[in-house]
Amino acid sequence: MTDPDCLFCKIVAGDIPAEIVHTGERTVAFRDINPQAPLHVLVVPRDHEPNAAASATADASMFAEIATTARTVATGEGYDDYRLVFNTGAGVGQTVFHTHCHVLAGRPMGWPPG
Ligand code: ADP
Repeated sequence: MTDPDCLFCKIVAGDIPAEIVHTGERTVAFRDINPQAPLHVLVVPRDHEPNAAASATADASMFAEIATTARTVATGEGYDDYRLVFNTGAGVGQTVFHTHCHVLAGRPMGWPPG
């Protein structure tokens, strides 16, 4: 399922350029255009769902695949420690409504997140 108006669907389809770092059967990972850490990659499912909750409802196994892809990307770039973030809903800062997992690494990170 794709949404013709969705930015990340267009990146997955190759219609908008992005620095792709990993492609899987069901996931694609590319560098965030506005990186917040030395490593900042977004892992997205190829199938369009608006947020993580919707992806979980559609297919809970997608989370395992996203986590595995995130580990492959992070460790492949030399980071054993990394943070995964799913912003789910505009109220917590989601701005692109295609499920994506932020993979962040390479600097100290505070808690709680801002
Ligand atoms: P936020 O914008 O608050 O981080 P999201 O969790 O929805 O909210 O994250 C969307 C992410 O997509 C942002 O980190 C943003 O920098 C990134 N982004 C937007 N457009 C592009 C693009 N064309 N290529 C790569 N990353 C992008």
